[in-house]
Amino acid sequence: MVWPAEIWEPNASRKEKAKSEGCLTQILLLHFRKKEGAFAITHMKTLLRNIKIIFVFFILLSVFFLGGLSIQLYRSQTRLAVAAGENKEALKARYANAGNILSADGQLLAYSEDGQRFYHQSPQTAAAMLHLVGDYTHHIDQTIESRYQRALTGTQRHFFHQLLLDVQGLGLQGDTLTLTADAELSQYASELLTGSHGAIVMINYQTGAVLIAVSQPSASPESVISWEGFADGSLFNRAFKGQYVPGSVFKIMTAAAWLQSEHTDTSFEQTCSGESTVGPDGASETGDGHGRVNLESAFSLSCNIYFGAAGVQAGADALRQTAAEAHFNQQITAGAIELPSGRISLPDAPEPLSWAAIGQPSAQGIITMTPLHMAMLAGSIAHEGTAMKPQLILYRTDPSGHQFDFLKPEKQAQYLPAAVAASLDSLMQEAVRSGTGRAALVPGLVTAGKTGTVQLDQQANNALFAGYIKDERLPLAIAVVVEQGGSGAQTAAPIAGALFSAAAEKYIEE
Ligand SMILES: [Zn+2]
Repeated sequence: MVWPAEIWEPNASRKEKAKSEGCLTQILLLHFRKKEGAFAITHMKTLLRNIKIIFVFFILLSVFFLGGLSIQLYRSQTRLAVAAGENKEALKARYANAGNILSADGQLLAYSEDGQRFYHQSPQTAAAMLHLVGDYTHHIDQTIESRYQRALTGTQRHFFHQLLLDVQGLGLQGDTLTLTADAELSQYASELLTGSHGAIVMINYQTGAVLIAVSQPSASPESVISWEGFADGSLFNRAFKGQYVPGSVFKIMTAAAWLQSEHTDTSFEQTCSGESTVGPDGASETGDGHGRVNLESAFSLSCNIYFGAAGVQAGADALRQTAAEAHFNQQITAGAIELPSGRISLPDAPEPLSWAAIGQPSAQGIITMTPLHMAMLAGSIAHEGTAMKPQLILYRTDPSGHQFDFLKPEKQAQYLPAAVAASLDSLMQEAVRSGTGRAALVPGLVTAGKTGTVQLDQQANNALFAGYIKDERLPLAIAVVVEQGGSGAQTAAPIAGALFSAAAEKYIEE
């Protein structure tokens, strides 16, 4: 901001003021001289000097207020123009001085220069970050650009913070946001999904920090802004909002319900021949069956016969209760972003209930999960049953370089009792050590997880994996969904393994 010169250099009008002030002094002095004498005169001079100081102070304050007022006026005019039709030019103007968006690993994801907004210079990274970062036209909702607009454009500051920046001539610039997302890992995740539809989410289960949230297909920010040249469905954020039938990943919930149900017979075993044991229309599986299985072997082999029967033994109410505690049918708040959690509605009859218990509900039930919710569920198992609130922002930086609003880890909910989480932890570690999740194994790291393979509408199978690294140095949980990707064991688990390895290479110092 440029200081109005007349404040510092007396000019004609200032002299006028001084003159009239002088008159007032004379009158007051005469008045007091008559009554009180010399003592009052000294007193009076001090008083008048104080009045002058206060007067100058008020002039300065008015200038600050006027300055602030004109900035507010400029902003509200821009806001009005935008509200009048969210037109692109007005939005562009609003982001002309917006702050940067940085990734946790220091990559520039968005910035404003010469009145223009730009995104990551690498088209691959820009596309990988698209659904999280968004664009200034807000064609994709629930993004950093749209939900953190006030921080980025600097319209959310406290009065004195704004004043301080105005004095430094930085008042019109917005704040920079440093995200929890790792751009390099996100780009790699996006690469691993190339050619498929699907999503990958990776979180730190101790802090809730979201490191990866990629959704395929994606598009370039420029095509989103110009609203042309992107594939159908590429603007939908599958990572945060895709509702996927979880298939065998849901056996985590069934095992949790079974472990907590009063109806549970802990020595429960089944002989699996591939045919349902709860009725002719109960959950079945292809192949010749797994033979004699208990909880451990059935989980590791992902046996539908065992879990169909275990779900029926635990009962629909136990499953409903367990799902409610694990935050199904609720909202997930990730900072300023509001997201859906998984959905569930269970039948009571044994045969359809057995299908629900293996995560493939019949027409009488609904079970879906978002990749974010799946990663949170997996993470809670590694974290004594506690799911942390997803966090997207590491910290904010104002235009003067002052950093603030640092990430504060917050508990979202106790998804599972700690003892149940401990039992599931050993089941999931075993599933990676010797079961269907072997491809997620990383030498030198304890990894755990559960695969899922889901057939929908006669299409090729969706491949899923939810798991985590059990290591204080790298407390990461992941969810991988590859639509029509084949099997969880062959498609999704290897992707999880590749990302676990990449994260270990990047973050664990040997
Ligand atoms: Zn089986």
